[in-house]
Amino acid sequence: MAHKACIIRGDGIGPEISDATERIIAASGVDIEWIPLDAGLKCVEAGEPIVPDRTLDKIAEVGVALKAPMTTPIGKGSVSPNVTLRKRLDLFACVRPAKSFPGVPTPFEGLDVVIFRENTEDLYAQIEYMETPAVAMSTKIISEPGTERICRSAFEYARANGRKIVTCVHKANIMKVSDGLFLRTFQRVAQDYPDIESWDVIVDALCMQLVTKWRQFDVLVLPNLYGDIVSDLAAGMMGGLGVAPGANYGTHAAVFEAVHGSAPKYTGQNKVNPMALLLSGTLMLRHLGERKAAEDIEAAVSQTVSAGIKTYDLGGTAKTSEFADAVCSLLKG
Ligand code: NAD
Repeated sequence: MAHKACIIRGDGIGPEISDATERIIAASGVDIEWIPLDAGLKCVEAGEPIVPDRTLDKIAEVGVALKAPMTTPIGKGSVSPNVTLRKRLDLFACVRPAKSFPGVPTPFEGLDVVIFRENTEDLYAQIEYMETPAVAMSTKIISEPGTERICRSAFEYARANGRKIVTCVHKANIMKVSDGLFLRTFQRVAQDYPDIESWDVIVDALCMQLVTKWRQFDVLVLPNLYGDIVSDLAAGMMGGLGVAPGANYGTHAAVFEAVHGSAPKYTGQNKVNPMALLLSGTLMLRHLGERKAAEDIEAAVSQTVSAGIKTYDLGGTAKTSEFADAVCSLLKG
């Protein structure tokens, strides 16, 4: 029976990498009934909200979506369609696996960390104002329930996936109240998982240790802002934005998306790397219980890249569609 999954093909490079991803997933033999949905700039241009209710309702009903990148409109009062989706669907856990991928050049061989970024609180609450004409204020919100659910997700993931250590990343030495609550909540949750080691580290030390001793880290759990920054650091360590996948989980829905944005300057050039969205697609396949297809796709991608068929960002000359053709022919062969 076909799985149902929503797809937002996005804008900028979104449609090109969506096309490559859909073709490769079809070549793996998994039957997906894609439900195309609208969001982003084209909705705004048509006078609609940036993420229409019908899109949110359908994702909530189906429970799963693959989302290509979308441009954030520029201008006063503009909101990001990506942040809107995460907030309205309460996708509280942003999960980004950062793993060195066979065939993708990186000095960080053996990198294999999974980042759990809290997705709804912290300085992203967007409560900002001018206290005086010369002083700007921004409110950082950390709640105990919000922290507990991201920490529990990280420990549950560790347990289900044979991971050994969960590390809490914070700055509780300076932000003793907000990050102090995050750390204390983590330590309380950790007591329910005696089979998993728990560590904590200050975010600046983590950044240094991640690039010097990356093998010692396993699962990381972070508040929103540190999670955002460390995810991009880890994406760079994997080999760049072109290869870094991600997933956003809530209680009722999961949305899978690349770490990168819509890269507008490359729109329509058939040039960019579809790997990040494709690997987000393999996270989706695992979520749907299609582990074998996910492994087959990852093996075919690795073989393709190792054979030198790769896009410009990895030092190759292959077009987006040529890369997809090569992966498809391995899967069908
Ligand atoms: P970006 O990630 O779109 O692109 C930055 C640069 O990274 C590109 O110019 C390109 O050199 C490289 N790059 C990105 N994706 C690549 C790929 N698949 N293959 C090869 N190279 C790739 O970041 P930006 O230019 O700052 O943002 C563009 C727009 O995307 C903005 O409107 C931003 O708000 C939005 N954005 C959306 C998301 C999302 O949809 N989740 C995430 C980040 C940014």
